[in-house]
Amino acid sequence: MGFLFLRIFINMKKKIIKLTESDLRNIVTKIINEQGISDSDKKIISGQIVSNGNKCKEYYINHFSNPETIDKFNNKNNISNIKSFIPTIGYKPFLEKNSGKNGYVKQTFPKTINLNLNNLFTKNGNTISPKGTLLYDTILHEMGHLIDFKLQTLREKSISSSTGYHSPTDGQDNYVQSDVETFARIQRLREILGLNPNANGSDIRDKLIEFIKSKKIQFPNIKIMGDNRNSGILMFAERNKTKGVLTDLWRFYSSLKINNTSVPDISALFAKYSKINNEFVTLDLNLLGKVNVSAKGNI
Ligand SMILES: [Zn+2]
Repeated sequence: MGFLFLRIFINMKKKIIKLTESDLRNIVTKIINEQGISDSDKKIISGQIVSNGNKCKEYYINHFSNPETIDKFNNKNNISNIKSFIPTIGYKPFLEKNSGKNGYVKQTFPKTINLNLNNLFTKNGNTISPKGTLLYDTILHEMGHLIDFKLQTLREKSISSSTGYHSPTDGQDNYVQSDVETFARIQRLREILGLNPNANGSDIRDKLIEFIKSKKIQFPNIKIMGDNRNSGILMFAERNKTKGVLTDLWRFYSSLKINNTSVPDISALFAKYSKINNEFVTLDLNLLGKVNVSAKGNI
């Protein structure tokens, strides 16, 4: 199966640079050879992957057309490079039960997003459909990684300021802290809040408050306060006092939902830029704003 995929991929790469929607759909359908998936489900799955993927591609192409993003490039020729790279990204489904892995990419396959059908789709009676926005969210995140890798091969810095509060103490903390993950998560934050590439801390705070007020963001059992000396600070108080560092903070933010869907990308980002003092968790959006401005990447 892998061999077949590789051959198709290589042939396509030789013949055409830009994959059309039906090319992509055919590749995805060919890869889903697993037993237990009916032909009609395969069609729905590949159609959903390609259409959600196209939405993400459109999002990134718009992002890289934004003058604020263009200004961040060292070499302006690289913008068209990135914009013609995005449509060539393809998908490779896999099935892994009881796995926390929704999707992943590898630097050695710089145009492929691997997607775990077990986690991303759900079957209700005879109807198979994506699980909420998880398919879209996963593709957007993984596509962020591929774009990051591409930026690096073009010698464009993808992120330059990403310092958080805490030093990681274990593998989980490292995952929260990782610059590569931060880059992908920032893409999610921008997309979901509709942030400009140069939005600063108070811009982000205003967006968050707007989302909280309109109930698009749900953060149950938490009291939210501002800091009138610093407009980029939000403070949270919860009934059960939180302790510890990054992964505890990640857990603290894990009850946060946007449009009724959990957002691990956003909760990990918030954890990285938060600290705990007494009964409050303080989220420093000024730091997050700096990261936003630096990704993709001021020098
Ligand atoms: Zn990631």
